[in-house]
Amino acid sequence: MLYKVLDKSAYRDFVKALISEYEFIGPKKKDRSVHDFVPIKDISELDTNYMRVTIPPAKKLLFPPNEKLVTYEVGRKIEVRPVIESDEEILFGVNAWDINGMNFLDRVFTTDFIDENYISKREKLIVIGMDSKPTETNFSLSMGTEYAKDGFDIYLTELKDKYFIRIATARGNEIVERYAKVSDATAEDFRGYDKYMNNYRKKFKMSVNIKNFYDDFELIYDNEDFWKKIAKNCYSCGSCNLVCPTCFCFNIKDDIELNLKSGSKTREWDSCMISEYGLVAGGHNFRPDKENRLKQRYRCKLKTFIDKFGKYACVGCGRCIEACLAKINIAEDINSVKKEVSV
Ligand code: SF4
Ligand code: SF4
Repeated sequence: MLYKVLDKSAYRDFVKALISEYEFIGPKKKDRSVHDFVPIKDISELDTNYMRVTIPPAKKLLFPPNEKLVTYEVGRKIEVRPVIESDEEILFGVNAWDINGMNFLDRVFTTDFIDENYISKREKLIVIGMDSKPTETNFSLSMGTEYAKDGFDIYLTELKDKYFIRIATARGNEIVERYAKVSDATAEDFRGYDKYMNNYRKKFKMSVNIKNFYDDFELIYDNEDFWKKIAKNCYSCGSCNLVCPTCFCFNIKDDIELNLKSGSKTREWDSCMISEYGLVAGGHNFRPDKENRLKQRYRCKLKTFIDKFGKYACVGCGRCIEACLAKINIAEDINSVKKEVSV
């Protein structure tokens, strides 16, 4: 890791140069409370002071909601052609918990199989991170994801009159050397950065008692009354999955041309919270009840990937809490599990 500082007076020139040289994706205000990561053509469109989470998360750049995977033709033999679309682009202003969300997806899409579509996009995505203020529903401090130590090329932290820059890759260093007027970080800059981080961590208002959840979950697993109470108001709408930076379930859809000789396969985001998720041929549904679906979602988020990767599949961003019309709150539910097993 290299540590540099950029004077605030040089920040705009740095960003303008990146906008003119690269496909540049950054946070733009969409309405009163929502920002989205969209292509930016002029620095005036960029708004890195977003506090509310962006919906949908930046994962859409790596794992789009709809993505054609292959086309095929059936002739004397079957020809299958992969469709892999990726371009070099900059993702600017993404915060620490979303970078950690992408890091989690990196593991998912490279562990049991190598997902070429995902990886080709990830390799070409230049990630420039930036701290943002946590919302009142953000519990990433408890999940250990409020700080990104990798998964980015460059990370900017705004101090009083300068940006403290962490450079994690050779590609990031090339960009900084070419487009930013930086100097080496001094001991004074490191002290300023430490002070910033201490204050930043005090801004997280929501916390969860995640310690021992791994075992507590087993104690509560068969308590039907508990899960019925937690899931009582769930509409099974699936919004919590769609806004989540770490959810990765997808469905494959076949589109066949009328000639029945050619077609394509497209993947689309799926949701474990909708009732059709567990439906299989023959009409059997493995998870017909909403309480079982919610229980399974919490197992997947907070336990399964501890076994698999030693990581939670939840970065504590709080998006699902904000998106849920039924006010189902994963943070409160984690704490309820603790309370329930402690009585
Ligand atoms: S928990 Fe909330 S967002 Fe998720 S499916 Fe149920 S109602 Fe929808
Ligand atoms: S489960 Fe909720 S809080 Fe956790 S990462 Fe997904 S959207 Fe964020």
